[in-house]
Amino acid sequence: MDFSKAVKEELSGSIARSYVAQISRFHRIQGSTMYHDAAEYVRNEARRLGLKDAQIERFIADGKRRYWTYLSPVGWTVRSAELRILEPENRLLARYEDIPQSLHTFSNGTPKEGITAGLIDVGSGVKTEDYKAKSVKGKIVLATGRADRVHEEAVIKRGAAGVITDSIAIELPHVRETLDLPDAHSYNGIWPKGKEIEKTRFGFSITKRQGTHIRKFLSSGKKVKLFASVDARLFSGWEEVVTATIPGTSKSKEEVFVIAHLCHPKPSANDNASGSGMLLEIARTIIRLIESGKISRPWRTIRFIWVPETLGTVAYLERHTDTHDRFVAGVNLDMVGQDQTLCGSTLNLTRTPDSLPSYLNDFVLSLIEQSIREYDKGTAHGSASTFRYASTTFSGGSDHAEFDDATVAVPCVSMTQWPDLFYHTSEDTIDKVSEDSLKRVGWITTMAALMLANADRTMAYRLASKTAAKGLGRISEEGHAAAEELFKKSQDHKIKNKSSELAKSAEYHSNRLQHVIWREQQAVRSVKRLADDPELDAVVERHCRDIMNHGRKELAKLAETAEFVARTAAIKVPSRLEGTRSDKEAKNLVPKRMFKGTLNLEILIETLGEKEYDWYRHLDESDYNSGNKLYEVLNFMDGKKSLHDIVKAVSSEYTPMDMDRALRFVRDLEKSRLLKFV
Ligand SMILES: [Zn+2]
Repeated sequence: MDFSKAVKEELSGSIARSYVAQISRFHRIQGSTMYHDAAEYVRNEARRLGLKDAQIERFIADGKRRYWTYLSPVGWTVRSAELRILEPENRLLARYEDIPQSLHTFSNGTPKEGITAGLIDVGSGVKTEDYKAKSVKGKIVLATGRADRVHEEAVIKRGAAGVITDSIAIELPHVRETLDLPDAHSYNGIWPKGKEIEKTRFGFSITKRQGTHIRKFLSSGKKVKLFASVDARLFSGWEEVVTATIPGTSKSKEEVFVIAHLCHPKPSANDNASGSGMLLEIARTIIRLIESGKISRPWRTIRFIWVPETLGTVAYLERHTDTHDRFVAGVNLDMVGQDQTLCGSTLNLTRTPDSLPSYLNDFVLSLIEQSIREYDKGTAHGSASTFRYASTTFSGGSDHAEFDDATVAVPCVSMTQWPDLFYHTSEDTIDKVSEDSLKRVGWITTMAALMLANADRTMAYRLASKTAAKGLGRISEEGHAAAEELFKKSQDHKIKNKSSELAKSAEYHSNRLQHVIWREQQAVRSVKRLADDPELDAVVERHCRDIMNHGRKELAKLAETAEFVARTAAIKVPSRLEGTRSDKEAKNLVPKRMFKGTLNLEILIETLGEKEYDWYRHLDESDYNSGNKLYEVLNFMDGKKSLHDIVKAVSSEYTPMDMDRALRFVRDLEKSRLLKFV
């Protein structure tokens, strides 16, 4: 059945945007009473729309209880907060009631009368050197680093009275930098553990303009005196997950889900009131279409899930292990409403990781492509669309990662508008949210949910064919890109040892091509989750044979190209490459995971200690995919593959992974009893 017209007529960007506006009124910090108010709003709205089983599920959040490897946050509530400069001038700097993001989340209360303290500049405030020859005890520190780390170093370790930061969290050079947002208060949080509640103080996030102004006083030798008053409390609270369903008919035990994180400070309109509000409009659309008889009730259940990001999903999946089998597929919506021009964004479809190849990627991408035809005019010279979209390799950082993890293994893609100039600042406001973006993403997601909830053997057959066709194309592309790389290498005058570099490159690309051939076959096979049918199985295997044969041809072509390149450049390439000592070591290690869910790296601090753990904090400075690579090392770890094979797969998915890094990672995990070698 074709749902496209019905969904297009019913789904409203304007209604979606008003849900987004409603949700953006709440200061939705996980574990807080303010988040609870938002959860109630969503649950009540879900009920009002006619969704079934609408409920708020609670999980203890006391900063001690772990869900898989994740420590729960603590509970928090705030009434008011204010920061003033008293000397050398008297002026209000920040007030929670005006801009909630100006108070670091999980700030503790001050005495009722407030506190008065001197201010000291500690640079980034996250390193030991920042505190050399400085006495911060009893003072408020001004820093540019992340609030949780500054609070740890200044307050917990050195007895400072509080923290002020004046920088945005994720700086992307030439894309979004603190200097682009001189008047924004950045989202920054203290994130205390349960055992630190007593020692936790407060923090404020001031703007760069304010910070620069105050630093001038300090650098000219003037004393700066501040007054801070915070009416807030930390306690043992709850993480709350809202769920509701549209029950299916004949296959109601199986579920298709859409998820969005409900958390984040007020307003965080795009991140992620947009995804959360979008879910309500998708639900309204489907229910309305069913009730008016324009579509029939889907076979499978459609579940809507609103979570505190990552932490809520992990807690939910830990409690409901039955869902790992019942969930068929899912879509995560995280930052979908951006006005692309204002925010500088592109709608990215994050594909499932290579460890979990799926038909879902090409399926949702084809819906994005169809949405352009639905919503934009065509001309004789192509589409008049100005809407930007892209399909990207797997990247974590939101809730889809928890489902795609190998121990859960439910394929979930994510749609995210990225980058976003205003991300995680007080300027992520409703005026940056576009009805047009919401309408498009709403249509794509509703179509995906309805089609998957009704997918039968015919649909599975069509998806297999689509995935195979696209997969064959990707294999050709991969082969071509590999050949280009070899030509480039042979002509690069900067390379000293060309013979070994060329051999290495040829080997890398051949491995990579083999990996893609394997991945594309697995992606086609993944349609079997939708229908159990011998005829479908036969078709799937025929597609896989086609992919295999095509892949073999590409591999042979690549080998020929490598020979041609070497001959032309008169380079003698060694026929066999000697592995390094680390390679040999990795070949003899077969690691096996001893834990479920994605790994919260911070759990390693307990066994490694702060100093050794610091290595993990700096990994992404030399490789921005380092987090994704570690995630995939764990996913490819099936208790059979050697570490060498695992690293080969991860290197094929992203860029070459350093073997010594992988070795250090698995050794650290073994020390922490999170894996063993078999
Ligand atoms: Zn987000």
